[in-house]
Amino acid sequence: MNDRIIPLIDVRQSVPAIPREKAAAVVQPGAGLLDQRGRRVRDLRISITDRCNFRCIYCMPKTVFGRDYPFLPRAELLSFEEIERVARLFAAHGVEKIRLTGGEPLLRHQVERLVEMLAAIPNVELTLTTNGSLLTKRAAGLRAAGLKRVTVSLDALDDETFRKMNDVDFPVAQVLEGIATAAAAGLAPVKLNMVVKRGVNDHAILPMVRYFHGSGHILRFIEYMDVGSSNGWCMDEVLPSAEVVRLISEEFPLETINANYAGEVAGRWRFRDGAGEIGVISSVTQAFCSSCTRIRLSTEGKLYTCLFAQGGHDLRGLLRDGHGDADLAAAIGDIWRQRDDRYSEIRKAATVANLAEEPGKKIEMSYIGG
Ligand code: SAM
Ligand code: SF4
Ligand code: SF4
Repeated sequence: MNDRIIPLIDVRQSVPAIPREKAAAVVQPGAGLLDQRGRRVRDLRISITDRCNFRCIYCMPKTVFGRDYPFLPRAELLSFEEIERVARLFAAHGVEKIRLTGGEPLLRHQVERLVEMLAAIPNVELTLTTNGSLLTKRAAGLRAAGLKRVTVSLDALDDETFRKMNDVDFPVAQVLEGIATAAAAGLAPVKLNMVVKRGVNDHAILPMVRYFHGSGHILRFIEYMDVGSSNGWCMDEVLPSAEVVRLISEEFPLETINANYAGEVAGRWRFRDGAGEIGVISSVTQAFCSSCTRIRLSTEGKLYTCLFAQGGHDLRGLLRDGHGDADLAAAIGDIWRQRDDRYSEIRKAATVANLAEEPGKKIEMSYIGG
């Protein structure tokens, strides 16, 4: 991974190590951590593997993620114990939501054990995003381990388009079965993420709404983003959320509803007939950087303060060098306090002004976690 490493502040000279259970005491309770733009840290996304059994054309195109792609060796990955330790420190810093992602998180061996460890952290909502291919077999075990909800990516209902999007010929029927199994196991409401690529799967929007309208599941339409450097993104392939809402409203009248919490990224709309709600994530056309409360922990233990970052902060080195929780908590606090990211806002301004995008290699979503 050819990323630029931003050096950490030298925490070796800071406060001495203390036992893990006292980590919360290192952080002032309720103080909340603010970045350079006054944003609190609330959401931690953890990528637990950079591998995936799909090759979605917008995320891991086969041309780049081919047979010889150098995925991370096992020893490079954070262990479950290391992940739990970082998660507890973030919870002490005010993180309220943790999402396991990847790559495909259900490919990580014994992920249920990790779920059990993270579900035991007080005051934190734990969720997981998956492509759904393995859910039928795993849903009950995940629920038993303490997972409350699951988000499943589903880019079309018709088999032909679905196979074209995942590019490994995976049948949609198996994912639909996984969704039904997850709901039956109590991982509900299931959120369903559809990345819309204009001219590729936009014809699948209405069939999806017709199918899930009244089901209790929440469909969310995501604007195709310029994450990473391999998907060949261009603005012409983005279908703005406003168009998605207009299209759906013609058949299923919609009205807006308030966000569940400050900083929620999905714009919420409900069916006027009372049959549920949908969400739109307008990362491209309506940047929400000003309320972005997310931080990402990569598979090999680097912290990224923005989805579009060109470099991360190495936590694994600190974890493996024997630093105590006080050092780690201080390092995490420094990283967040220095955060000034607002990539989408800047990209939007550049697109409007018709400026060329600044060159530079961004981190792939499968590695940093979507
Ligand atoms: N493999 C899992 C899955 O697909 O749900 C989890 C990881 S995936 C990177 C997380 C989310 O990122 C998925 O919902 C996926 O659709 C979304 N995603 C990936 N590439 C994207 C892109 N270029 N634009 C918008 N969303 C993207
Ligand atoms: Fe895999 Fe998810 Fe990326 Fe698709 S979006 S290639 S399922 S990590
Ligand atoms: Fe947050 Fe970066 Fe996305 Fe802006 S571009 S919303 S700062 S992750």
